[in-house]
Amino acid sequence: MSAPADDLDLIGRHTAQRASVVRALIDHGGFVGAQTLHDVLKARGSRVGLNTVYRTLAALLDADRADVVHDRGGERLFRYRPSAEHRHYLVCRACDLSTAVDADVIETWAEHLARTSGFAEVEHTVELTGLCPQCCGS
Ligand SMILES: [Zn+2]
Ligand SMILES: [Zn+2]
Repeated sequence: MSAPADDLDLIGRHTAQRASVVRALIDHGGFVGAQTLHDVLKARGSRVGLNTVYRTLAALLDADRADVVHDRGGERLFRYRPSAEHRHYLVCRACDLSTAVDADVIETWAEHLARTSGFAEVEHTVELTGLCPQCCGS
C-alpha cells in the first residue's frame, strides 16, 4: 500500500524525509512508537532525524490520518489511518497485534453527548487492550 499523493499534502511540506516516515508507518501496518519507526528507517539507510519522525507523526494526527494508543509505559504508539474515518482498535498487550473493532455504540453515545451537553468540539479516546488468541493460548 502506498500513500496517495493527497495524503502527503496533509503532512505539510513535501519533503522526501517526511514521505519516507509516512511510508514506513504504512509498511509497519500496526501500532508503532516513534523511536521504533526511527530505528526501522535507520536500518533502511535513511538519515531521517528522530525529530522529523515526531513532527511527521504529529502532522498525521492533526490531519486525522493516524490513530494513537499508549503502551504500558505510557509511550504513544501510532498507526496509519487509511481514510479520515475514525476507528477504534483492540490491541494485544503482549505482541502489539491490533485489530479494528466495531464501535458504533460508542460513536452513537459520543455524538449524543456532544449534541446534548452544550460542549463544542467534543472528542473522545477509547483504548482497548487485551491478550490476542495467540498470546493467551486459547
Ligand atoms: Zn498477542
Ligand atoms: Zn470513536
